Amino acid sequence: VWPQFDVGSFRPNGRGSLLVSAQIIDGKAVALALRQRIGDGVARLKAQHNITPGLAVVLVGEDAASQVYVRNKGIATKEAGMVSLEFRMPADTSQAALLDKVRELNNDPSVHGILVQFPVPDQISQQAVIDTIHPDKDVDGLHPQNAGRLVSGLPALTPCTPTGSVILAKETLGDLTGKHAVVIGRSNLVGKPVAQLLLKENCTVTMAHSRTQDLAGMCRQADILVAAVGIAHIVQGDWVKPGACIIDVGINRVASAQEGKTRLVGDVDFDAASAVAGHITPVPGGVGPMTIACLLRNTLTAACRLAGVPEIDV
Ligand code: NAP
Repeated sequence: VWPQFDVGSFRPNGRGSLLVSAQIIDGKAVALALRQRIGDGVARLKAQHNITPGLAVVLVGEDAASQVYVRNKGIATKEAGMVSLEFRMPADTSQAALLDKVRELNNDPSVHGILVQFPVPDQISQQAVIDTIHPDKDVDGLHPQNAGRLVSGLPALTPCTPTGSVILAKETLGDLTGKHAVVIGRSNLVGKPVAQLLLKENCTVTMAHSRTQDLAGMCRQADILVAAVGIAHIVQGDWVKPGACIIDVGINRVASAQEGKTRLVGDVDFDAASAVAGHITPVPGGVGPMTIACLLRNTLTAACRLAGVPEIDV
């Protein structure tokens, strides 16, 4: 008799028997479909109101990973039919000069979303940047006004990775009402907004962090387990409730089996957890692709709100 949870599929475990394995949540496919709907929304906004959403991305310095992120965001923005503006500033840019650039973009009516790529060089306060971006153009959803509006249940631009994580949970499970969600991590960027968004979906939410006692026992109670820690494979197979939905936000670079190479893994031990869970996001290919899609969604929303036209629901 198989357990009463949704077993996804069966796969050989290499030792001649079969393991129950979780359904893999295809973040790439969900993100692609969302980006297509956003593209349709952008086309409608243009046709009905002659507005083309514009996203401005500011990159300070030469960080290699940031350059890749910014390039990918630019490509995705154009693919969605939006205007992509890129501003590159040298690594020794002062905080005052960056904040001036942000204020200029705040006042530019062709710009509906502003994103300053983090991390910024040490001489610049990340919080000062976040505080200076106009809340209505804050497509990263990090401004205290947007964070406060989310907590208060008011319309807000919500952070992209948390929004993408909750969309994946909803696409997978449908109505989340009454589910017990455990979120590991309490950063302003991921953990706190994920918890708020799950609360909004009527989950019972437990937040865990580095001082949580009996983290494993806490996780075993989760119908939905969101890991946003930044420690490779901290979540082990026996931390997972049978049939749980696991959303792995972590991105960790570790040594690969191949000499001198590295690979990306999540915060969850994928092989062990997928033998127990009902559904699980892979890393890469899970939450990651949702982040850019939700950035574009926020830009479309911001463009509608700034123009005072009805929001386009995607
Ligand atoms: P962060 O600011 O470093 O926060 C990490 C959180 O994990 C903190 O709240 C910390 O607790 C908690 N933590 C640390 N060690 C722990 C432990 N041993 N047990 C339980 N909790 C522990 O990181 P973040 O910005 O939220 O990012 C988290 C992960 O998500 C990273 O791997 C990051 O790369 C990834 N990420 C992915 C995307 C994406 O697009 N997929 C986007 C953003 C971030 P305390 O508060 O007590 O210190």
